[in-house]
Amino acid sequence: MTTHDKRYVIIGNGITGTTAAENLRKNDPACTIHLLTNEAYPLYNRVSLPRFLQGVIVEQKVMIRDFAWHEQRNIQLVTETLVTDVNTDERVVVTDKGQQLPYDALLVASGGWANPLQVPGAKGVQHIYNFVTLDDTKTIIERMLDSRTALAYGGSFISYELCDGFAVRKKWCSKLCEDKEGAHYPDRYDWCWSGYCTEYSYPGQYPY
Ligand SMILES: Cc1cc2nc3c(=O)[nH]c(=O)nc-3n(C[C@H](O)[C@H](O)[C@H](O)COP(=O)(O)OP(=O)(O)OC[C@H]3O[C@@H](n4cnc5c(N)ncnc54)[C@H](O)[C@@H]3O)c2cc1C
Repeated sequence: MTTHDKRYVIIGNGITGTTAAENLRKNDPACTIHLLTNEAYPLYNRVSLPRFLQGVIVEQKVMIRDFAWHEQRNIQLVTETLVTDVNTDERVVVTDKGQQLPYDALLVASGGWANPLQVPGAKGVQHIYNFVTLDDTKTIIERMLDSRTALAYGGSFISYELCDGFAVRKKWCSKLCEDKEGAHYPDRYDWCWSGYCTEYSYPGQYPY
């Protein structure tokens, strides 16, 4: 039997982790909750990132929670801290800041991640970005200001949204995908086919 208040550790403060923390607090006013993220922000809406990239909304509209929200609920939000190890025998979470957080229950809500581009020649090349986080989005926006052209790589809907971000800023964008997924959106986009490059945006104004 535990003689202390229950200790919860949650890895990841996306919608999953933050909602879990909120409900834990509602159901147990005495427990301790550590909510860990390697990002710098409280919960924001990842789904809104394409609209932020496209300039449809401002950063403030992307945010869902602020730091005060966590303080009011006594949820220890630990930002810019990467979980590097979980010792399940000892029930301890280890971070890159040297913290060791013991837990009674652990939730891994670390979400999904994009792998870096791993094709020959890509390693070490500047200005190849993933489009997953708020910081990724800010970096891409900043870089776009100095760019004339862009290449979106990937067949998912998100890469089309990325192309839209370039298009609204009148940048020439090509989209490259390895499958036929592009054909799912024939009314909205040009074709996209295995191994080919689709001239996507800003048609008629070739940059070359
Ligand atoms: C650009 C974009 C557009 C999207 N659009 C849609 C859409 O239109 N509709 C839809 O349904 N879904 C969409 N998604 C997917 C949706 O955002 C995810 O399904 C959702 O965010 C998952 O929430 P989550 O809380 O499980 O994980 P996440 O939101 O991924 O949060 C996980 C958090 O854990 C952190 N983390 C991971 N590992 C560690 C670690 N070791 N230490 C500390 N922290 C860690 C991450 O940094 C992240 O902050 C989109 C995703 C992206 C990137």
